[in-house]
Amino acid sequence: MLPSFDFATQAEHTLTLIIIGGSIGGLCTAYWLKKAGHNVIVVEKYSEDMLKDHRFSGVRIPPNSSRLLYLLPGMMEILEEKSSLNLGAVYVQEGAGAVIGKLVFQNEMIADFGSQYYRIPFSHLWTHLYHLCILENIQFKFGFEVQKIHVEPDFVKVTAGSGEELSGDIIVGADGHNSITRNCILADVTGDSEEDSDEDVSTRLPELNQWYSCRLSVPIHEMEKDPDLLPLTRDSLWYLWMGDGIFHTGGREGEDQYAVCIFYPFSKYGKEDREWYEQSSSLLTSEEIENTDCELRVKKLLQLASTCQRTTQKPYKLSKFTDNSNQVILIGDAAHAAVIHGPQNTAIAIEDAFLLGFLFSKINSKHQISLCLNGFNEIKSKRTKMIIASDLENIIGYALAPGHDRDMRNSALGLCSGDNPVTDDVLAHILRGFIDDNNYDMQTVVEEWWYMWGRLM
Ligand SMILES: Cc1cc2nc3c(=O)[nH]c(=O)nc-3n(C[C@H](O)[C@H](O)[C@H](O)COP(=O)(O)OP(=O)(O)OC[C@H]3O[C@@H](n4cnc5c(N)ncnc54)[C@H](O)[C@@H]3O)c2cc1C
Repeated sequence: MLPSFDFATQAEHTLTLIIIGGSIGGLCTAYWLKKAGHNVIVVEKYSEDMLKDHRFSGVRIPPNSSRLLYLLPGMMEILEEKSSLNLGAVYVQEGAGAVIGKLVFQNEMIADFGSQYYRIPFSHLWTHLYHLCILENIQFKFGFEVQKIHVEPDFVKVTAGSGEELSGDIIVGADGHNSITRNCILADVTGDSEEDSDEDVSTRLPELNQWYSCRLSVPIHEMEKDPDLLPLTRDSLWYLWMGDGIFHTGGREGEDQYAVCIFYPFSKYGKEDREWYEQSSSLLTSEEIENTDCELRVKKLLQLASTCQRTTQKPYKLSKFTDNSNQVILIGDAAHAAVIHGPQNTAIAIEDAFLLGFLFSKINSKHQISLCLNGFNEIKSKRTKMIIASDLENIIGYALAPGHDRDMRNSALGLCSGDNPVTDDVLAHILRGFIDDNNYDMQTVVEEWWYMWGRLM
């Protein structure tokens, strides 16, 4: 087991932080803020059992996040034992049903990343993080749905539906894509800033005002009964079945579930946004399955699904993730619109948590909060733009209609075919976004920022 990670310093000025939301982002933030030397209270609207037993859900842990999770005691073992490894991707063009490309992560690539790419059931990740938080004596209040947030000059207060109140110094909104905390920041900022013209991440893609996805869980034992589906259960590659205005992904997630996600950026299908506990109530109807443009294996998977989670997301471009008084901070899905069920939604929440924990481990007086939060905003703005650009490129690019752009995409993906090895330069060009996202090392980024600016504190 790796030794437990400690920040180089602990804050000399102890703050009380209320974290709204006890999912992956909230738990990681709680753990690292506690390690940084602060008092932390997590309030979560669901019950502990709902989160612990939430078996048929799963998240991706790409290398940029697994290298941070490896810092947590016992986490490497959990990832190794309970996850499926993600060793690459197979690209299939719907209609023709042909495999047009196959990207297998070479050992050198994994070695360069320094950590693996996993797909893990939500409950295993959540349960271990929760256990670590309990060991750190972090306080939890489940069934506490925040309905009001008060920000006063010297304190913050949250009020639950039951009328119960809690006060502290700072609120961290880790309350997901329908965040209530975000309203505090929106009240202070007016849309995105001009910085959006940042050349590294600018994109020629059309604007999406909202997009839709859904995630189905298919029991492995059902798939094993069907000779067409059995090979998929043994495959460590992630499948992308690319259609016209829609695409499906599929991959095993842990011991007993196969995840199928449907992305339909241009809304041919339903527009729903369900709570996470409502999964089985939104199974696809036979009409929806019948009308879905996909190959037979995908249709069979859709029919076998035991749960289905539908999500609608809207982009909300924030130029900063803190309110003007520096008493409210957003992280994870509350802060950015990384595509849920996509490659980086959980990873970026884990990065945010580490970033905040690191910076808050340096706080020696109340006056230093604003400098630390400048660092948080600066680092997080750049990183968010990177992720959103590649997420949108994916959801639009994998759902292209027949035509020139789709032909170009397919011939580029064809270069990745295992039968047709390409030079490192070509591969590097095709994979640039993927490598940049997965190679990102938040620990190094924040340490460098601290080295440059920390001495000003
Ligand atoms: C039970 C569950 C299952 C999930 N399954 C998947 C999945 O299969 N695939 C996938 O890609 N993503 C899934 N996600 C989302 C995924 O966890 C996030 O996209 C990502 O990990 C970023 O995490 P987050 O903590 O920022 O947001 P989230 O995981 O969305 O967590 C937000 C948390 O805040 C709580 N909350 C919201 N509002 C309030 C309030 N007013 N007061 C108190 N608490 C509040 C929510 O109950 C939730 O626990 C799931 C989330 C949950 C909660």
